[in-house]
Amino acid sequence: MKSNKLAIVIPIFNEEEVLPTLFERLFPVLDSMNKSYEVIFINDGSKDNSIHLLEELYNKRPLQVKVIDFNKNYGQHMAIMAGFENSDADVIVTMDADLQNYPEDIPLLIEKVEEGHDVVGGYRLNRQDKKWRLFVSKLHNSLRLKLTGIDMVDEGCMLRAYTNDIVQRVISTKENSTFLPALAHSFATNPIDVGVRHAAREEGTSSYNLYKLIRYNFDFFANFSKAPLEFFTLLGFLVSTASIILFIFLICSRFLHGPGADGVFTLFAITFFFLGVVLMGLGIVGEYIGRIYEEIRQRPRFIIKSILSLNQSDDK
Ligand code: UDP
Ligand code: MG
Repeated sequence: MKSNKLAIVIPIFNEEEVLPTLFERLFPVLDSMNKSYEVIFINDGSKDNSIHLLEELYNKRPLQVKVIDFNKNYGQHMAIMAGFENSDADVIVTMDADLQNYPEDIPLLIEKVEEGHDVVGGYRLNRQDKKWRLFVSKLHNSLRLKLTGIDMVDEGCMLRAYTNDIVQRVISTKENSTFLPALAHSFATNPIDVGVRHAAREEGTSSYNLYKLIRYNFDFFANFSKAPLEFFTLLGFLVSTASIILFIFLICSRFLHGPGADGVFTLFAITFFFLGVVLMGLGIVGEYIGRIYEEIRQRPRFIIKSILSLNQSDDK
């Protein structure tokens, strides 16, 4: 696979503290690879000084830098999607800005692409994150394999490389709320995972709090807008289970203590059971309606305020 031109796509959300170090470490790696390259930064509605730092960098390296500025925050994955749509490189690498990924590992990924792999996924060796994040991640990974059959080592690791073919397929889905590594992986013919280094965040804070993480997980398994329906489905399960237990308890109690006012409770148990089933059914039907709703909406996924690029034809 040829990799004459590389693109590095980096989403930026309030990263002013790390950007100077990122620039310092990233460019020597890319320069040393002797390939033509572009680094596409997407400012995802940062509230800090990030955009000015990116503009400064663009003025210094207009040949290698593109800056896409969103009108507001659309999330990491939509930012990467915008980067994909604005690159014509042979190989596109995604990475986080916060230097938890090592820019020095990029050549490792490119090597694998040149060996013929169309998706190269990094997995974090010795992952440096808070314990609760690791737990959520583990849960997510095992659920993903069971529910979707997507078999990748570390879907949360953003240091990944894709061939242009794969990126074109991802763009063509026009999906609104999507999880890019898994989506790209599902289009791959010859994917491979490689171990990459992982550092603790030194500057700034992870923009994922518990709420964002829960939201992200809903997003993956269905879609955020259908979360209430999923809640109903779950509630249906819980009510059914609870009423089965109650039902068994009442039967046993009847045999042990004879009939009493329990008959009424038995009726309650049965009613609750069916109520649970109905709620569950409603939730499942809702899942499908939600999907149809999303397909027909066709809202723009993100709005680009401006693009800094030497190639003005790129401007939209
Ligand atoms: N990011 C983004 N938009 C967001 C949140 C994050 O573009 O709404 C970027 C962020 O600047 C970083 C990457 O996505 O480059 C990963 O974010 P973060 O480090 O906060 O996530 P974590 O490493 O904790 O998963
Ligand atoms: Mg991070």
